[in-house]
Amino acid sequence: MRNFGNSHDSMSLNTATVRKQWALPRIIDECARVGIRRIAPWRDQVADAGIERVAAQLKAHDIGLSGYVRGGLFTAADAAGRQQAIDDNRRALDEACALGAPCLVVVAGGLPGALAGKLVSRDIAAARAQVRDGIAELLEHARERAMPLAIEPLHPMYAADRACINTLAQALDLCADLEPTVGQADQQSRRILGVAIDAYHTWWDPSLEAQVARAGREQRILAFHVCDWLVPTTDLLNDRGMMGDGVIDLKRLRGWVEATGFDGAAEVEIFSNRWWAEPGERVLSTCIERFRTCV
Ligand code: ZN
Repeated sequence: MRNFGNSHDSMSLNTATVRKQWALPRIIDECARVGIRRIAPWRDQVADAGIERVAAQLKAHDIGLSGYVRGGLFTAADAAGRQQAIDDNRRALDEACALGAPCLVVVAGGLPGALAGKLVSRDIAAARAQVRDGIAELLEHARERAMPLAIEPLHPMYAADRACINTLAQALDLCADLEPTVGQADQQSRRILGVAIDAYHTWWDPSLEAQVARAGREQRILAFHVCDWLVPTTDLLNDRGMMGDGVIDLKRLRGWVEATGFDGAAEVEIFSNRWWAEPGERVLSTCIERFRTCV
């Protein structure tokens, strides 16, 4: 009999999805148990477990990464703060290499000081310029390590505190600005700058279909994240929905992404007080079931 493999072969798990239930070593064991072959771990989870231990465990289970989470947060009140962010991002790039990640996911940062409740500027254009400069400074280190940066535009509700890059078009423009595409020869070479397309952040965008196609043409798609948008959404950060419980046409979006030739995993990333209160085993089995039926 022919073996078709698991229907969730193309699923990855962003490990924040079960971070309240388990530490990373347990998450990796549980993924191996249910046949999830890829994960996207967070830096704090990796640091808690020890990066060498995590790397060895991934290898032992033959589990790969769909991304390493996360770098970025380039905006700061002063030059010293911005330099600190660059240094920290360099370390994140090195960790991503040690774990064999396909990319480092980069979240821009918002208005300087806003996340800490100490706003120092209302100039969002200046914040965006800081993000551009920060990524520009990282490029050499990323190139040396052949570790792509996946810029993840976040929903505009996070523009103040987490990310002032809010649409796929804006992220792609930034990529094109910092790493221009020049002719056929360049098409062959590996990009160091790209994007992470997250359904939760981008589903509402009237230009999404066109921008996904553009991202494909420009060979920028490094990661694809899925969860669902609940109505009503009761918490700006931690009320993401399980696939199928909300309003996003995930199959259609996945179709657009895969029509570009993207053949990476679709990464399930659910920050949810509701799902964090469930047993981890139940969260994983639900993710797999919904991935089969709704993604
Ligand atoms: Zn995401």
